Amino acid sequence: MGHVDHGKTSLLDALRHTKVAEGEAGGITQHIGAFTVKVNDRQVTFLDTPGHAAFSALRSRGAQQRNDGVMEQTRESLRMIKEANAPMIVAINKIDKHNADVDKTKRMLLQEAIQLEEFGGDVQCVPISATKGTNLSQLVDAILVQTDLMNLRSEGKGPIEGVVIESKVDPGRGRLCTALVERGVLRKSSILVAGTAWAKVRGMFDHTGNPLTKATPSTPVEVIGWRDLPSRPKMAHQIIQLRQNMEMTEKQKQDEEVIKTKMDDYNKEYKAMLAEKRKQGRYKIRRQGPRQKEIVDDDSIRHSVIIKGDADGSVEAILDVLDTYDCHSPMQDGCYSLWYGSCVHLLLWATRVGDISESDVKLAEAFQACIYGFNVAIPEKLKPLCKELKVDYLLTNIIYRMVEGMVKDIEKRLPQK
Ligand code: GDP
Repeated sequence: MGHVDHGKTSLLDALRHTKVAEGEAGGITQHIGAFTVKVNDRQVTFLDTPGHAAFSALRSRGAQQRNDGVMEQTRESLRMIKEANAPMIVAINKIDKHNADVDKTKRMLLQEAIQLEEFGGDVQCVPISATKGTNLSQLVDAILVQTDLMNLRSEGKGPIEGVVIESKVDPGRGRLCTALVERGVLRKSSILVAGTAWAKVRGMFDHTGNPLTKATPSTPVEVIGWRDLPSRPKMAHQIIQLRQNMEMTEKQKQDEEVIKTKMDDYNKEYKAMLAEKRKQGRYKIRRQGPRQKEIVDDDSIRHSVIIKGDADGSVEAILDVLDTYDCHSPMQDGCYSLWYGSCVHLLLWATRVGDISESDVKLAEAFQACIYGFNVAIPEKLKPLCKELKVDYLLTNIIYRMVEGMVKDIEKRLPQK
């Protein structure tokens, strides 16, 4: 974990390459979200940040060179590590740069209360260069030292347990997921349960695409054979354990209650805020065609929408297109009126950047809104949720198609002749 552009991807690439260079891997290295590096007779597994690709895509708009010590996302990472009570190892990257100042970075770490080893603490720190490959083996060694200190062992026997790292639908191979085995030995025909999905393992592959007959603890594998797409970060359990999990504890019930209340409060606040904005005036948009000067009355038809785009710029472009629907006097932002035969209010609840997320779906449900996505995707695992919550969405790569879709959806709401 670390700040954007500090070299996480480069480091993973360099480590991946290490393995290929050792000649262990046949085939082409694939991206499955996790891979292993062998050191003597031991193996270290590295995980990519989930959804890393999406973030990289966002970032690539303005790839910047950064070399600025402890930054905001580093602090965020430190908080997360602390919360998870997980051990950490610091890699100070880009030491090949002429202006690299390792000591300064160490001082910054000290200011964040990171107890580095050389100052009497227990946090190992390795200065590296991802692009030059400097000190990579030292970094891997540091990881092994850490595991030795913690005496990490895994159970190779008994029920299989693991975590789902990523899941997707592959056009050729069907539903599959990358999972990390944590306990037991995964074999062909093993039965796995993840949330409400299950699989009889039809095949397993390592990150180079090579088929595996078994996967021991700490091995990341791609598993095919899922009947549904695993959507919860939990794989395989004894059935009994599953049943136990299903019986919610009193504490969990209370937590659920808290979340629900929070969501209700949030909705109330949101509605109040909108009502307030509504008082401040209106912003009318007329569909191209003969100008109509009716007064918008509050009984008119409403169509609630949430707009998602792949970038701020594209969301703006969509709003620009909506603006071509001839706006009259300024109305509150977030509420457009489309004249379409009769007047239709287009209530824009949110514009957001990125793929459709669970919170978008929840928001859409709360406001009975339809989600329109431009150049974004909806994760497979959210589709059942949309169905369950009756949330409609339209994804397209062409802006006018989106507007067309909106108009069609509005037509559906107009009184039938
Ligand atoms: P991430 O956002 O943390 O994944 O960062 P990237 O791996 O994408 O790296 C961001 C930029 O820093 C890229 O242009 C890399 O080529 C560059 N970079 C990464 N590691 C090093 C390094 O060790 N030395 C130098 N000089 N540049 C690096």
